[in-house]
Amino acid sequence: MTANQSDASIHHDPAHANYHDQFDHKDTHIHSVTALSDSDIAERIATANAHCTKQGVRFTLLRERVYRLILQADKPIGAYDLMQQVQDERTEQARQTGDTSEAKRVAPPTVYRTLEFLLEQGFIHQLTSKNAYVPCCHPRHAHTAIFLLCKSCEAVQEFGDLSVSGLLADIKQLAGFAVQDGVMEFQGLCAKCQVA
Ligand SMILES: [Zn+2]
Ligand SMILES: [Zn+2]
Repeated sequence: MTANQSDASIHHDPAHANYHDQFDHKDTHIHSVTALSDSDIAERIATANAHCTKQGVRFTLLRERVYRLILQADKPIGAYDLMQQVQDERTEQARQTGDTSEAKRVAPPTVYRTLEFLLEQGFIHQLTSKNAYVPCCHPRHAHTAIFLLCKSCEAVQEFGDLSVSGLLADIKQLAGFAVQDGVMEFQGLCAKCQVA
C-alpha cells in the first residue's frame, strides 16, 4: 500500500472485498473487538485459514491457538498472558493424552514470531498504550486503525471506516512521509460509561 491510496480506496479494494462481505456490519462501522460470540470466532478462524492458504503461508497450530486466544479474550491481551495460556493448554492436553511431548515449554521467541505473523497478516493490532493485542475488526493487510479505549469499563472499539485519508495526505505533504499502516489510540469514556 502507498500513502497515495486514500483510506476509501483501501476499504474498497476488491482484493479485500471478501473480508468486508463477512465482517462489515451495515448499520455501523464501529466494532467492539472484545465481545465476540463463539460463531464469530469460528468464522474468523475459518476465514484466516482460507486467507493463509490463498497467500501460500502456513496457519500453523500455534498461529491458530494464539489467534483464537486473542479473539476469545474479553480485553486486550499481552504477550505474557498469551504465553501462559498456550502453556496451560499444552499442559492440559498432555495430561489428557498422556503425551508429554505436548507439554514442552513454549519458547517466548516463538510466541513473539507468531504475534508478528498475525500482525503482518492483518488479523490483529497491537495497542502500544496497553502493551497488548486485539483482533482487527476488518482483517486485511496494512491499514490505519483507530481504537477507542474506555478507561472505565475497558471496552475496546475499532473504528473500521473512519476516513484518515486527509490526515495521511497532510503527513505526506508536510513531512514527505508515506504512511503504510498504523494505530491511533484514544482514551476516554464509552457511551455507556458516560451515562452511568
Ligand atoms: Zn483493523
Ligand atoms: Zn465504558
